[in-house]
Amino acid sequence: MPTPGSPDCPLEVAIVGSGPSGFYAAEALLRSDKSVRVCMLERLPVPYGLVRSGVAPDHPKLKSSALVYDRIARSENFRFFGNVCVGRDIRVSDLREAHHAVIFAYGASRDRRLGIPGEELSGVHSATQFVGWYNGHPDFRDIRFDLSGESAAIIGQGNVALDVARILTKSVDDLRHTDISAHALDALSESRVREVHIFGRRGPVQAKFTSQELAEFGKIDGLGTIVDPDDLALRPACRIEIEDQTNRNYAKNISLLHQFSQARTGDHRRRLYFHFFRNPASLHGKTRLETVRFNKTRLSGEPFHQVTEDIGETLEFPCQILFRSVGYRGAPLEDLPFDRRSATLAHVDGRLCGAGNHPEYGLYATGWIKRGPSGVIGTNRADSVASVETLLSDLDKLPQHVKPGAEALEAKLKAQRKTAVSFKRWDRIDLAERARGQSAGKPREKFTSIEDMLDACGLSDQAAGA
Ligand code: NAP
Repeated sequence: MPTPGSPDCPLEVAIVGSGPSGFYAAEALLRSDKSVRVCMLERLPVPYGLVRSGVAPDHPKLKSSALVYDRIARSENFRFFGNVCVGRDIRVSDLREAHHAVIFAYGASRDRRLGIPGEELSGVHSATQFVGWYNGHPDFRDIRFDLSGESAAIIGQGNVALDVARILTKSVDDLRHTDISAHALDALSESRVREVHIFGRRGPVQAKFTSQELAEFGKIDGLGTIVDPDDLALRPACRIEIEDQTNRNYAKNISLLHQFSQARTGDHRRRLYFHFFRNPASLHGKTRLETVRFNKTRLSGEPFHQVTEDIGETLEFPCQILFRSVGYRGAPLEDLPFDRRSATLAHVDGRLCGAGNHPEYGLYATGWIKRGPSGVIGTNRADSVASVETLLSDLDKLPQHVKPGAEALEAKLKAQRKTAVSFKRWDRIDLAERARGQSAGKPREKFTSIEDMLDACGLSDQAAGA
């Protein structure tokens, strides 16, 4: 009986999602001592997930991880199926039938909500929408952000909130030569936003952003940074927390916020305010957002176990546009076991598990849909290596016969007249985007609709075949 992973029975693995965690899983599989063939499926015609549509355009170094993914994709035993949505164009059961194992690496595409009255008002957006919009993601390109008011608010103090704040406060000249989408650059050049306010419900020591990202605001031309020094008067429990060696990022954040609070306030082009101890309670406006009501909070409790409590005072904050940046959320896929509380696929060590922790041999998860939306791009490498180790330890529990892999997938898609985009065709999209960017001095001008992406690689959605 041939064992999957042997030369006469290559281990056929489908990976759902082409972001960092998917590519790191492919890399771990292809580097293993087994004979492996990988099919990667991606909903969009273009690869790289959040590296393409999440990383901010003014952070090109972070995007360079795509060079690593490009190398992986050119491996002999790797196939890319772009423009194929699992759950719509092809079912999980089809993938299981054609492969020995399936790894889900489809990230966390939804956003968390505040769950407060007024969240449906016009002028209230999620950071996810804004990030997708300025990065030219087809799902978000048609959203209109009204930047005609003077004041914008961001709720949440993670790195995504800082990305949104940077794009709102930088001058368009600072963004012009990045790969920001043309429609976003046009809208930002008309922006009348002069003040951006970032609100955290806890204190400065608890803010989740990293000091490297925070420090960038000190270097933006014409930007004033404002922090209320009272917010930086730390209670003893907070001082103990930042003295802890494992919290060095937070100590650096506090030092930077002190610098910001002492910076001269002058005639700045734009201003960025950091507010702490403000818990959003409700959003108000007749037809669109006009004010945000916050409950003021304070911290109580022992170091590392501090909690916030309302102090019984509220604050009305006028603003015309608000971005909630309170984290992403994973979505269920077909009937895969899903933990609604954490919005992740239910798993043990990366292997999916159903009711009663029943192991689902052959089904695995990695990245944000496995551990939730946390960590930087590199965090996904170790995560994917761990999931692949689990998969490889299950080889004797997987179907002990040859699987057709890509061949069956192609046949299934062809029968459904579904166009899949191969990696060679992505190369054509890539080249066309780079050429479009060249005249504007940009690394690329992305196509922002699926039709244009397919046109660029010589396909139309009606044509079949990869
Ligand atoms: P995050 O780091 O988890 O931050 C979420 C923020 O939302 C926190 O400040 C949190 O406050 C706040 N929040 C949550 N629920 C709230 C509520 N109901 N009301 C008010 N505030 C609320 O998430 P993220 O910014 O979306 O980032 C996701 C991951 O991507 C992170 O690991 C991040 O580092 C990473 N990322 C990295 C980069 C980079 O490396 N440059 C860029 C972007 C994103 P509490 O702490 O009080 O819950």
